[in-house]
Amino acid sequence: MDDRYWDKDIETMQRADLDQLQLKRLNETLKRASRSRFYEGKLPERLKSLEAIKEIPFTTKNNLRESFPKGMVAAPQEELIRLHSSSGTTGRATVIYHTRNDIDNWTELLARSMYMTGVRPYDVFQNMMGYGLFTGGLGLHYGSERLGALTIPASSGNSKRQIMLMKDFGTTVIHITPSYALHLHTIFEEEGVDPKRDLNLRIAFLGAEPYSDGTKRKIEHLYGINVFNSYGLSEMNGPGVAFECTHKDGMHVWEDNFFLEVIDPETGGTLEEGEEGELVFTTLRREGMPIIRYRSCDIGAVYKKRCPCGRTHRRITRIKGRTDDMLIIKGVNIYPMQVEKVLMDISEVGNNYLIEVDTVDYLDTLIIKIEVRPEIFHGSIQELENLRRRITEALRTETLISPKIHLVEPNSLPPSEGKAVRVVDKREKR
Ligand code: ADP
Ligand code: ZN
Repeated sequence: MDDRYWDKDIETMQRADLDQLQLKRLNETLKRASRSRFYEGKLPERLKSLEAIKEIPFTTKNNLRESFPKGMVAAPQEELIRLHSSSGTTGRATVIYHTRNDIDNWTELLARSMYMTGVRPYDVFQNMMGYGLFTGGLGLHYGSERLGALTIPASSGNSKRQIMLMKDFGTTVIHITPSYALHLHTIFEEEGVDPKRDLNLRIAFLGAEPYSDGTKRKIEHLYGINVFNSYGLSEMNGPGVAFECTHKDGMHVWEDNFFLEVIDPETGGTLEEGEEGELVFTTLRREGMPIIRYRSCDIGAVYKKRCPCGRTHRRITRIKGRTDDMLIIKGVNIYPMQVEKVLMDISEVGNNYLIEVDTVDYLDTLIIKIEVRPEIFHGSIQELENLRRRITEALRTETLISPKIHLVEPNSLPPSEGKAVRVVDKREKR
């Protein structure tokens, strides 16, 4: 037996066979989806090729909201066993329904993803994502149990208890948002616990929000841990849509369960492999609530090359941001991730930051509040001023506009225990 794979047949399936499987499942999906009020009469009966999917209109977050609560449900009530609701980062929440098979498939995807990173039944998995309507908690919980790891349903928050659990039970694997991982480390420092020296941590799954490569490296360094990127969205179950393998170069999208397209967000036209655009997903197995051509708003690209790990499922890049979190400041487009990318490469920068946009004398202003390392904050004024200049210059080079930089004390900005709020746009309220 080859113990690198959880499900070798599926993970390393020949590309042509995988395409065939996708087409078969896509056609089954069209049939099932037609039973919902939303898709009824809108879908072709059968597609001859995967490309033909382009004739079908997109489904948007607004469509989901308009058909709230059950307009997209395609299975009878007695077959539904669970619902999840998205966190509503951008507007009213949406709801997704699952049948027993849906939960079972989702669980498999997470067991497969976790196994791929090297988690084994002897591991102790502490799940620090919110349990409840949010998909990050229960999703990985089920996956970890199926894999056979000892699972600690810690949920998010209560940092001191998190540290205690890690010590008491010898946690080896954690699941956490990047912003909370950074915040939690400041509590480690307060408690005088060094995760590298005092704990057994070896693997971390980081996801649920965009983060830069620099943030990943910083967390690896602070915790002495191997970070794997985990991507998902509630509309496509939640986590388990795409995950990094041990090569840690892009995330494999589980294409036996999801059909992926990348489109130009402006025109809706399909982009080639390697081109950056909006990710569009179609569920291929879901029964409770199939969704076709869902515009995720997430920006990324598909790798052209096969991964050396032997898996044939295509890889996507780190998510650069969301089409709906792009800021337009003085006519210039900026993604919060561009700011994070610059900040995390500067070693004096601490573990939190906040972007504020406002209007002063009819002009947009960009203010970035940045926590700095304690020794820097309490050090010489001249050094602090030099750092401020250096950051301003680096940000100008990356974003083409000059922000106002406020360097602030460690732990003075609102901490994140789940998904971080990175931008406060005061312009909208006027
Ligand atoms: P909401 O859109 O209300 O936050 P979800 O909880 O479903 O709902 O969040 C899904 C979104 O979280 C994704 O569309 C994406 O923007 C973000 N996300 C999840 N995982 C990652 C990741 N690994 N990298 C970047 N962004 C991510
Ligand atoms: Zn791989």
